[in-house]
Amino acid sequence: MDATSMLIGGQWRSAIGTGRTEDVTSPYDGSVVGTVPVAGVRDVEAALAAAERGASVWRRTPAHERMRVLMRAADLAEQRTGEIGAENGKTITEATAEAGRSGELIRLAAFEGTQLYGDSLPLDANPGTGLDKVGFTLRQPCGIVVAITPFNYPALLVLHKLAPALAAGNAVVLKPARTTPLTALALAACFVDAGLPEGVLSVLTGPGGELGDALVSDPRVRKVSFTGSTRTGERITRMAGVKKLSLELGASCPVVVLPDADLELAASAVAVGGYVNAGQVCISVQRVITHPAVSGDFLDALVPRVQAIRTGDPSSSETTMGSLVSLAEAKRVEKSIADAVAGGARLLTGGDRDGAIVAPAVVADVDPACALSQDELFGPAVAVSTAADWEQAIAQANGTAYGLGAGIFTADVAGAVRAMREVDAGNIHINWTPLWRADLMPYGGLKGSGIGKEGPRRAVAEMTEEKTVVLHGRPW
Ligand code: NAP
Repeated sequence: MDATSMLIGGQWRSAIGTGRTEDVTSPYDGSVVGTVPVAGVRDVEAALAAAERGASVWRRTPAHERMRVLMRAADLAEQRTGEIGAENGKTITEATAEAGRSGELIRLAAFEGTQLYGDSLPLDANPGTGLDKVGFTLRQPCGIVVAITPFNYPALLVLHKLAPALAAGNAVVLKPARTTPLTALALAACFVDAGLPEGVLSVLTGPGGELGDALVSDPRVRKVSFTGSTRTGERITRMAGVKKLSLELGASCPVVVLPDADLELAASAVAVGGYVNAGQVCISVQRVITHPAVSGDFLDALVPRVQAIRTGDPSSSETTMGSLVSLAEAKRVEKSIADAVAGGARLLTGGDRDGAIVAPAVVADVDPACALSQDELFGPAVAVSTAADWEQAIAQANGTAYGLGAGIFTADVAGAVRAMREVDAGNIHINWTPLWRADLMPYGGLKGSGIGKEGPRRAVAEMTEEKTVVLHGRPW
């Protein structure tokens, strides 16, 4: 791998025909952190042609051999953590923690790829069928998986697709976010250096708006696994045709604080969960719904904790919140906060912008119907509103187009049970915020937040297909 190449079917190369490249820059200070090719549709064709060859080799490779390659890749990812994850303005502490999960995530997926069990079918329980037939199910890889990933967790969100897809025996064409291709290339190099056969993995760097349609609509592709905005996800569903789709999309995650909650716990968890990665996390706390009786005390506990967040140079270990991914994103977030305040909300702290950094904000008295509650913010602000009773709190929590994560703070088991039954979110946390994930757990959204689940076991299931086989003997 040289410094300016992408991976097409096992070869590190430049863009076909054009040889075009572009710089990857730090959103904090504009410095160039790398240079990558700008792929075009001819590169898409080359990657898919290679993937067709790769898929036929890899599906015939026994699971134990696939696992050995992935286990070697996991070791390499751990040895190379310095190359992974620090290109999008997140703090060095956050980037290092993210990169540090890579090896274990690959190992979890490697194991799941060896667990492609099927069912034995009791066909004789069906009237008219005797004991002369044997039925069972067989799982096999989908074939070619197109994986498209966003910028905010450039290592983990790539690996949540790549590792299970490869473990299950698929070939993969990966299109990482244009702002974070370097981490994806560094991770791909771990798999190549671990002995992945040629053709099995390609990484195309370049604009999703130009490459996306060609990738997701190609009939050779059987499965598209996408993480990104709901808008792009909707386009993919229209373009893909008859394919398997996994979509991990946008969110506006609520936290409900009930009157009997431990307010110190809730405030300290929200002061983390709303601001990790500068709020650019799909499971970030965007909305807090408090009971009016505890709202003042909750805000008194929250605001000083948010004011203690130290913004600045992401490469400094002193910094606890870095920049947004771009100046344009920082301006958008600044405006969303200002619009809510112009509409009657109260800004208790933060909200001003310095370059691509937005000061962590707490906004109170937010109308649950306004854009700061309804639209995904993807920035460092928490919108606080009140609800007088359970019905209102649940209605507000469920009152957006999304359903990815939610948190409930309460000391009452009955309240917790009611919340887990009635809140429409794919991940629900009792006495914590939605910003929590163990890589092995099933993870995915309801409603506009997506279709399907990730987490190695579920992802392997979604990246394989099931055949029903019947062996016909003769009556004896
Ligand atoms: P995005 O703009 O939708 O981009 C995501 C990926 O899609 C990028 O690789 C992008 O390429 C590509 N893309 C753009 N246009 C495309 C098209 N027409 N066809 C196919 N691919 C296309 O999202 P983002 O701003 O990077 O990420 C933030 C979003 O991701 C948020 O909405 C967040 O909630 C969501 N997210 C969801 C989860 C989850 O688990 N639910 C996790 C993380 C993030 P370019 O970069 O080249 O444009």
